[in-house]
Amino acid sequence: MLKNLIGARWEEANRPTLPVYNPATGEVLEEVPLSGPEEVDQAVGAAERAFPHWSQTPLLERVRLMFRFKELLEKHAEDLARLVTLHHGKTLEEARGEVRRGIEVVDFALSAPTLLQGRTLREVTGGVDQNLFHYPLGVVAGIPPFNFPVMIPLWMFPIAVVAGNTFVLKPSERTPLGAVRLAELFLGAGFPEGVLNLVHGGKEAAEALATHPRVRAVQFVGSEPVARRLYALAAAHGKRVSAAGGAKNHLVVLPDADLEQAVPAILNSAFGNAGERCLAGSVAVAVGEVGPLLLERVVEAAQRLKVGPGWEEGVQVGPLIREEHRRRVVGYIQRGLEEGAGLALDGRGVEGPGFFLGPTVLDRVSPRMAVGREEIFGPVLSVSYAKTLEEAIAQANAVPYGNMACVFIQSGKAARAFRERVQAGMVGVNLGVAQPFAFYPFSGWRDSFFGDLHPHGPDAFLFYTQRKVVVERW
Ligand code: NAD
Repeated sequence: MLKNLIGARWEEANRPTLPVYNPATGEVLEEVPLSGPEEVDQAVGAAERAFPHWSQTPLLERVRLMFRFKELLEKHAEDLARLVTLHHGKTLEEARGEVRRGIEVVDFALSAPTLLQGRTLREVTGGVDQNLFHYPLGVVAGIPPFNFPVMIPLWMFPIAVVAGNTFVLKPSERTPLGAVRLAELFLGAGFPEGVLNLVHGGKEAAEALATHPRVRAVQFVGSEPVARRLYALAAAHGKRVSAAGGAKNHLVVLPDADLEQAVPAILNSAFGNAGERCLAGSVAVAVGEVGPLLLERVVEAAQRLKVGPGWEEGVQVGPLIREEHRRRVVGYIQRGLEEGAGLALDGRGVEGPGFFLGPTVLDRVSPRMAVGREEIFGPVLSVSYAKTLEEAIAQANAVPYGNMACVFIQSGKAARAFRERVQAGMVGVNLGVAQPFAFYPFSGWRDSFFGDLHPHGPDAFLFYTQRKVVVERW
């Protein structure tokens, strides 16, 4: 059974457990305890005890330890990727990409000496100077989703702790192994006990963190209904909250698009990570006469994608996270067909024992259908049609989410119009996954984000600090 990290000790929680699976085989790898308020309180207590010393530790020492952590991550990058593939299911290549993007956030955290600098304005009025300093908040918490078991925890605690906070991490109960390994490496880097604590669990542990009187800020990443609820709950308990939610991303293809470039990008966007990613392209909108050719090319290429265990050479689409989730995605396909969509490619025939579903393409989908409106989170691409760019933008804007929208196009003027009018916080031009690098915010809009300051980028340093303004007369 997995243990919680409280201070420097790995402690057993005497709680009911859930199995952690290898989704490619259905085999149980571990048992994860469903901690409750008691374990959360122990972790918060350990973080609280560590805070006075850690927040007074010189910045250069905090950065030096973070450098060691980064070195350990680099050294163990391949093992971390294999662990991600083992319990999440994504392909090894995708897992290596995930680890790389996670390490980039640690690289960014190392810019703390620049990003934590304050401001000074001398002689504001006669003999009066004004200074602004950044201070850590105290004990802060992170609640990541299942789909990036290494990268998303790394969006959270490195920036928070380098800024002087102490942290309680509650990983996803479906993919907790990545966070456990990260915590081991973190301790191995020499950070003092209690700077990072880890509590396993699900809803009960997450709510205990969101309502704990001594937790100052909560960073959540997960599905929209939980993000919305957790945002309200934690804010009602006086916390600073950043809650990133789900998505329904549109990929718009104009008649002048270079299909040699667009089709592989659409495939990677829709079927990479088996569609379990908040930047997955979910609807391809074909504008004007490009429709029939785009559908033909996408289907032709998608049916050649190899489905299988993520560690096998040449596999491009791994399994879904759980059998229940696979059934939910199949339910969406069924519902799409009942609501009038065409079945251009059917991925439902892939044999188990793992939780596999092959790439599926639904045709003539509209925003009125559930498959055109709701997040599916599986390898299902809907194709819809629009007469003009305006109509395509209107389709993208008709869904309540606003994470990402992409356009495949040659005309700069039309690309600019798309960028200006689409209601999404991350926009791609001639690429299918517009993931910002760590030094920019991960800036979902509308129902894809609840809060003000987004994950990583300078936003994250602001999220994890409070400002003090000192006015001086001498
Ligand atoms: P989820 O909402 O089910 O779980 C996320 C976290 O919340 C987990 O740690 C889980 O234990 C906890 N949780 C679950 N139910 C809860 C409840 N009722 N109350 C409090 N906490 C609860 O999400 P998931 O299925 O793990 O992840 C997939 C979702 O995350 C997708 O919707 C995806 O779009 C979204 N996501 C968003 C981003 C982003 O940056 N916007 C990034 C990755 C994933």
